[in-house]
Amino acid sequence: MDRETINYIIRYFRKLMTDDEALALNHHMYTFKSSENVYMRNLMIKRGWISSDPEVTKLLENGYEVFEQNVVTRIMTETPEKVFFNNCPKCHRLARTPYAKQCRYCGYSWHHSP
Ligand SMILES: [Zn+2]
Repeated sequence: MDRETINYIIRYFRKLMTDDEALALNHHMYTFKSSENVYMRNLMIKRGWISSDPEVTKLLENGYEVFEQNVVTRIMTETPEKVFFNNCPKCHRLARTPYAKQCRYCGYSWHHSP
């Protein structure tokens, strides 16, 4: 699966993640955001935004990119019908968001289609 499709699913279909996957995503994001600030890091840990649950940290053991790939692979195996791919009617490439009505590749617009 290409990087673009992975980003699209992670970004717009986050609700299809399991609780542990969502916690792992937060863990990564908040750890990154507080990388230079010990005070913030401790605050985030205290508030539970950074989880130290081994089930959660295990999901990230091979790095964040692998984690994203695994999540998307699982979603596409278990609940593919819940992912809407907004493909351009003309060139069939993936639009930027599920709501986009114009193609970023060929410029085709489908604002007026049903
Ligand atoms: Zn197109």
